[in-house]
Amino acid sequence: MDLASAFSITVARRPDAIAVVDGGRRLSFRECHAESARLAGGLARLGLRAGDHLLLLLKNRYQNAALYWACHMLGVIYTPLNWRARAAEIAYCLGDAKANAVAFEGASAESVREALAQSGLEALPRVVLADVRTEPGDASYADLAAGPTLERPIAAEEDSTCLMLYTSGTTGKPKGVPRSHRNELAATVSMIAHNRYVFGDSALGVMPMYHTMGVRVLLAAALLNGKFVCVPAYDTELALRLIQDEGITTMFLVPTLYYDMVNHPDFSAFDLRSLKRIGYAGMTMTNALSAACMDQLKPELFVNYYGTTEVYTLSFCDHVDAKPGCAGRPGLNQMLRLVVPDPEGKSGPDDLVAPGEPGEIIASLASPEAFAGYWRRPDANAKALRSGWYFTGDLGRRDEDGELYVIGRLDDMVITGGENVYPEEVENALSHCPLVRRAAVIGIPDERWGQKLVAFVEPAAGASAEGLAAYMGEAALANYKRPKEYVLIERIPQSPVGKILRRELRAGNYRRVQ
Ligand code: AMP
Repeated sequence: MDLASAFSITVARRPDAIAVVDGGRRLSFRECHAESARLAGGLARLGLRAGDHLLLLLKNRYQNAALYWACHMLGVIYTPLNWRARAAEIAYCLGDAKANAVAFEGASAESVREALAQSGLEALPRVVLADVRTEPGDASYADLAAGPTLERPIAAEEDSTCLMLYTSGTTGKPKGVPRSHRNELAATVSMIAHNRYVFGDSALGVMPMYHTMGVRVLLAAALLNGKFVCVPAYDTELALRLIQDEGITTMFLVPTLYYDMVNHPDFSAFDLRSLKRIGYAGMTMTNALSAACMDQLKPELFVNYYGTTEVYTLSFCDHVDAKPGCAGRPGLNQMLRLVVPDPEGKSGPDDLVAPGEPGEIIASLASPEAFAGYWRRPDANAKALRSGWYFTGDLGRRDEDGELYVIGRLDDMVITGGENVYPEEVENALSHCPLVRRAAVIGIPDERWGQKLVAFVEPAAGASAEGLAAYMGEAALANYKRPKEYVLIERIPQSPVGKILRRELRAGNYRRVQ
């Protein structure tokens, strides 16, 4: 089954249900399908064919969702990039993906045009939204969506690529992760099962559609005839308002967005009782935040979902209220192992760690959700794919019940005075401190300790380095896990989707609080 056929099934099931809400626009499944089919016709007239890449630099808007479906109807590979990406990164991806066309809006127009010029690709077909100042040769979205419908959607082979996401990793150039129709359908069915979504469940469309979580939310809502409520650019107050006004039942977000919501000064002014099944993914959540989410959002179900762009579901835990931070057990169709961590990448899938010991988490590539390898990156494949297993670069440990805890990235582990320290554990202890809004911990080179633990803190009122040291002096942590230094900074650096960027702290990219 390909995604376009899966969409047709959903449309036939409940054509009049609302599929997408974007500001004042509400499209039913029938309307969304019709718009996508006309767009697919338009894209075909631009010359796009099955197997081509359409690069998109768009916010979460109905046009983005319609282009997603239009691509699947044509067998074109939906290849989204961060709409805030700079020209150099766009130019790299235009070349890397061998893009056959690019779609953009006002917010991304300048960088895209610069990238096209840098790459000598001025003649590449372009689809532009209404807020772009057009140039000769631009095809307007409105014109494409007003033209004749694609006569016959191609029914793509399920192993063909329908989506390519770029992951930035910690170093180097972005890597393309091609995903097949089969991967995407299997991943979404897992997501639905593990989060216990039901038909008609609506979703807050706030995780960007250039990230695995964003496209997954769109697809899960669509398969269940639920509405996808667009939040084009993140705004906590708008998100809270939409949950209330649209009666949204599910959310799937990075912890950072939960943090912003539960700490919003007007949080209690919103009625969020419609929320039933919520989940987080993308990074660990501190115990303090996990408790605040349970307490303030009062979901029926709160899930920790551990996954990656490459493989999607690794594990999930549906009882984080009882075991905060727990990543539970492997998801449907997934086998996980913990192997001896080796930064050189020499461990194999049979180098298992002893029970209770931390190890690198590896996932079987036999899962129908798992990709088959990076796009034109044999170097990255050699590093991450070994003997049928995907090496995540994450460290995990199983507790006495056999349940997994993700303890951090192998690259972020700090060795201080010969002892291994995982930043997340220290950050977790700091999360309970009333002087701390957010914290991130790294190791910096030190003659005496090898690496010295340093905590960077976005301070709450009254915070000082001495106050933090005094608090941590009392915390239930081994001595060597207590930071040697506290630095109060204005903002913990984050990736575009809200993950802590410890590498930016290591590079000195932060501003001290005056
Ligand atoms: P991405 O491909 O952007 O989704 O990033 C995948 C990485 O995010 C994983 O390898 C983990 O390092 C991290 N991650 C994803 N989900 C979780 C989770 N639930 N808990 C802790 N880390 C996570």
